[in-house]
Amino acid sequence: MAFQRVKGTMDVYGHYARAKEKVSNVLKGMAELYHFSPFETPVLEPTALFERGSGETTDIVEKQMYTIFDKGGRSLTHPPEYTAGVARAIVENKLYATEDLPIKAYYEGPLFRYERPGLGRYRQFTQFGVECVGADSPWLDVETLLLAVESLYYLGFKKVKALVNSLGGKASRDAYREALRAYFEPHKDELCPDCQRRLATNPLRLLDCKVEHDHELAKGAPSIIDYLSEEDRQRFEQIVRYLDALGIDYAVDPGLVRGLDYYSGFVFEVKIEGKKDYGSVLGGGHYDDLLSEVGGPALPGVGFALGLERLLASYIDEGLDSDADPGLDVYLMPIGSAAFERSFGLLVETRLSGYSAEMPSKEGKLSSYFKKAERSGARYALIYGDEELEQGRAQLKDLARKEQSEIDLTRLAEELDARLGEGEGHHHAE
Ligand code: ATP
Ligand code: MG
Repeated sequence: MAFQRVKGTMDVYGHYARAKEKVSNVLKGMAELYHFSPFETPVLEPTALFERGSGETTDIVEKQMYTIFDKGGRSLTHPPEYTAGVARAIVENKLYATEDLPIKAYYEGPLFRYERPGLGRYRQFTQFGVECVGADSPWLDVETLLLAVESLYYLGFKKVKALVNSLGGKASRDAYREALRAYFEPHKDELCPDCQRRLATNPLRLLDCKVEHDHELAKGAPSIIDYLSEEDRQRFEQIVRYLDALGIDYAVDPGLVRGLDYYSGFVFEVKIEGKKDYGSVLGGGHYDDLLSEVGGPALPGVGFALGLERLLASYIDEGLDSDADPGLDVYLMPIGSAAFERSFGLLVETRLSGYSAEMPSKEGKLSSYFKKAERSGARYALIYGDEELEQGRAQLKDLARKEQSEIDLTRLAEELDARLGEGEGHHHAE
């Protein structure tokens, strides 16, 4: 019986897996530079966490959750986003009391949303994200966006554009919600059924509607910027001054509201401008009430989440993935049965020295060995016959330069160190 993967999921292997690994390592390395630490939360959470944390009337919670009932009858959900889980973990483990604040965490893991699969849209996808929790300053809001943008530049993207907005604090948002209701109310009958509901429950969500007519209507809606309190406005202006000073390429988009309810104050999305438009590659912002919503103290936070699959799509489109495969360091080429037998020892030794190594799985012609070496991207071939091996000698061939020299096998590690130990692409075990 043959099986197919579930709709909207993917199998990851080969070059794509390499590229994903590379991108992931760059993102983690950059987060470390910004003093974030790794953080992991389970891929099963109590369903109520998302209802409470992410927002009961968001599309994600209303329509897209993968909720299961375990054998004990508990309602559990595979996370559609990680911010709520990180907040839960900080509260549950009382990290705000034991760790220095702000807590700066980065995560990477699979997310699950039941939505219509399409370009850059899956039902299981991967997010890399960061959260900075427990300290409040416009600089931290900016630093989060800066990390995202700098990571994209570091990966090699040339055109990275940020869209920014402020949702203000509670009072500003309350005033704005009323303004939105007043604006949309006369058009109620033209709205999609979802938006008719949203008008009552969560009018901000109307600005996020993907239905064409609603989207057009939303363009004429009042702007949140005009409803910000004096304090909220000043904070946003300070943020914008930082963005200017840092030379971040951004535009203020008053319609940017994000799809989750916990955001307050600064919000942003980032797009990579390239061959194809996959939508936003990442989004994030500041939140004031999430921690208290999930039972913790009133600590603010700011974070972003980036979709790795969308990032990879652009990464490959722009040809940035060409050196993602590290390739093999050494391919062993025994000539003769005695040499073949003794290759296992040599293979183990080479790997112990910290160099990736492979040998043919059965004896064959030298020409077939070269083909295998080439396909595995090997940089060096180690060639030896029975007699040479007896004398402790072998030929070490640089496969790119086609240069070959005889080496003393007792000095194999040193010879490899001299050639591969430093410089690009080596992956000497630490
Ligand atoms: P969109 O407006 O495209 O639906 P979103 O606002 O739902 O995105 P967020 O919840 O902010 O997205 O998640 C942050 C990032 O995660 C997105 O910018 C995107 O790169 C990625 N992402 C979100 N949903 C999906 C999905 N279904 N498949 C793949 N990546 C996704
Ligand atoms: Mg979405």
